[in-house]
Amino acid sequence: MNSAKLLVATHNPGKAREYARLLADLPLAVTWLADVNIADAVEETGATFTENALLKARHYAELTGLLTWADDSGLEVDALGGEPGVFSARYGGPGLSDQQRCAVLLTALNGTPEPQRTARFRCVVALAHPDGRTWTTTGAVEGCILTAPRGANGFGYDPVFFVPAYAASMAELPAAVKNQISHRAIAAAHARRLLADLLAGGLME
Ligand code: IMP
Repeated sequence: MNSAKLLVATHNPGKAREYARLLADLPLAVTWLADVNIADAVEETGATFTENALLKARHYAELTGLLTWADDSGLEVDALGGEPGVFSARYGGPGLSDQQRCAVLLTALNGTPEPQRTARFRCVVALAHPDGRTWTTTGAVEGCILTAPRGANGFGYDPVFFVPAYAASMAELPAAVKNQISHRAIAAAHARRLLADLLAGGLME
């Protein structure tokens, strides 16, 4: 049994638990930032999700000497040239609630007809080895932006994001369904397979 450690670089306990569950059958001890007493945050200065995920993964791999998993995600709206993109968490300014950010988005799209309201959630997972090697995987879920919020599940932009395959907003889907189809689930499944292959190839030996 390999006793290699993987650091999941998040301060969010929900995310840490979700990724730990996904990676449970790999020959790795999964830990997260709170376990290793790290409270500092990385400034997400990248222009893309990939840059930000790599920034975080590299930073914590260097800091801890551990193989590190980090993600970055957000919403891309085609009619807004891909915004809010990497600014998803900050869109509309600091201190807004999720509900207020959704309202800012709906105002920005006011008058945009339905065929032009296409959008996607995107997530990039980055892996960084303390020796400097890095890998990334991506997941996306396609949809369009509603004209008013629907549903009470999830977080962020879920109430205004319509998923055609389910004829429902992301916030109307049960968590179990969202966790199967989400951008994060897809990127994480790819990263899990990549990690399994790397471990089988002797990554931590
Ligand atoms: P983070 O990568 O988890 O920090 O997410 C950045 C921001 O993107 C969040 O604050 C949300 O505004 C948005 N976002 C990311 N994933 C989701 C999702 O699954 N649903 C709704 N909003 C999301």
